[in-house]
Amino acid sequence: DEDRSLIDGDVDEDGFVVGSGPLPVVAVVGRPNVGKSTLVNRILGRREAVVEDVPGVTRDRVAYDADWAGRRFTLVDTGGWEIDATGIHLRVAEQAEVAVDLADVVMFVVDATVGATDDDEAVVKLLRRSGKPVVLVANKVDDQRTEADAAALWNLGLGQPWPVSALHGRGSGDVLDAVLEVLPSVAANSEAYQRGGPRRVALIGRPNVGKSSLLNKLAGEDRVVVDNVAGTTRDPVDEYIELGGKTWRFVDTAGIRRRVHQTRGADFYASLRTQTALEKAEVAVVLIDAEQSIAEQDIRVVQQVIDAGRALVVAYNKWDLLDEERRYYLEREIERELVQIPWAPRVNISARTGRAVEKLVPALEKALDSWDTRVPTGRLNAFFGEIVASNPHPVRGGKQPRILFATQASTRPPRFVIFASGFLEAGYRRFLERRLREEFGFEGTPIEVSVRVRE
Ligand code: GDP
Ligand code: GDP
Repeated sequence: DEDRSLIDGDVDEDGFVVGSGPLPVVAVVGRPNVGKSTLVNRILGRREAVVEDVPGVTRDRVAYDADWAGRRFTLVDTGGWEIDATGIHLRVAEQAEVAVDLADVVMFVVDATVGATDDDEAVVKLLRRSGKPVVLVANKVDDQRTEADAAALWNLGLGQPWPVSALHGRGSGDVLDAVLEVLPSVAANSEAYQRGGPRRVALIGRPNVGKSSLLNKLAGEDRVVVDNVAGTTRDPVDEYIELGGKTWRFVDTAGIRRRVHQTRGADFYASLRTQTALEKAEVAVVLIDAEQSIAEQDIRVVQQVIDAGRALVVAYNKWDLLDEERRYYLEREIERELVQIPWAPRVNISARTGRAVEKLVPALEKALDSWDTRVPTGRLNAFFGEIVASNPHPVRGGKQPRILFATQASTRPPRFVIFASGFLEAGYRRFLERRLREEFGFEGTPIEVSVRVRE
């Protein structure tokens, strides 16, 4: 956690680390127990098992940053989907459908020792229809003996089955090479990610807050012909919309337009969509239904934005339905429930009437501006110098940790690293964060402060 700011590999023109851009998405799909999660762990190179044997456990993250041979991509683990918050098992084909929707490449995992089942066949049909590139993983081929089982999977009609042992690592390099061959180059340092390309916005929020209404309102007559947008890679799930004289890229809009209509696991799909949209976006507009009480789910969506390190604008929608009394209670709820984001710009809109939707643009620009901000090291250290002089860390056990040096390690979002002579208490760290915001603003962006102790 302390080192998070420095693990991203990309370095901008000033030698500073930048956050992840729109990475291509690889989804790992297959029946339960074929070894999807084991494969994901193998690809991520983690030794510790994330494979959960505890019933009812839902992994909160299903998408990870991964890389192979210098190519970076987002890896989606559908093994984490089997059980949703209410303990409902989702059908394999349903899962696959959602995964395929959001993926650029699908790794379809089959247990070679079992062979293809009816469930597998159902997924194959869906994969064929999707037209997405598929890499067929014949898993649990732990040794030479079982290679023949893998070969039997040729008859699925998905091309070459790659014999793999996710558990032992056998064949995993070859199959990743095969993935890279079909992986589109929407990489972090591709043209689409250069400054100057349309900025990427995710419209998120719990079901029925008005996401698709807002998208329609914004798209209106100003829908942009995608093919002519310079420096972009066309992605059919994104929509390019001209607002305030600029083109914006609304990501993952297919997920908004074509809602998965089902009662089972609806929450789960919503939160998955949010996460994948966030992976691609630079800034999120979190819609909240202002007519309803702010719910746990709204807070969770906000938290997802912060965790993803994306810029944030909050839009209170359905303003046309509010009377004076509701407006009063809404303000109280915001104070109580959304205390963690006093820094997020706020707009009160109506996707239905169009009220104040034009205010979204300055809010988005402000948030992105903060997200991109870098404080020069000299200025940062002068600032910390003053704080330390006026509010030094309390003495503990006869010792007083001192701040030696601070630097901003990255932008998007701003991440700061403080080098200190001893452990800084959580309360003091929060104080420093608060002061950073007071001094430099950062309206609309989460910031991270990590501390390194130097002996
Ligand atoms: P998922 O439900 O598809 O995510 O499957 P898991 O990754 O949870 O794996 C299910 C079981 O299969 C676990 O007990 C794994 O240890 C086992 N498994 C996964 N990959 C392999 C493999 O390559 N060989 C063998 N022998 N077992 C495996
Ligand atoms: P989504 O699930 O977040 O995409 O929500 P929708 O856009 O489908 O909207 C859900 C419902 O709320 C629909 O019946 C919309 O007509 C309605 N709705 C959306 N925005 C507004 C608004 O600003 N005012 C009012 N009165 N209704 C709205």
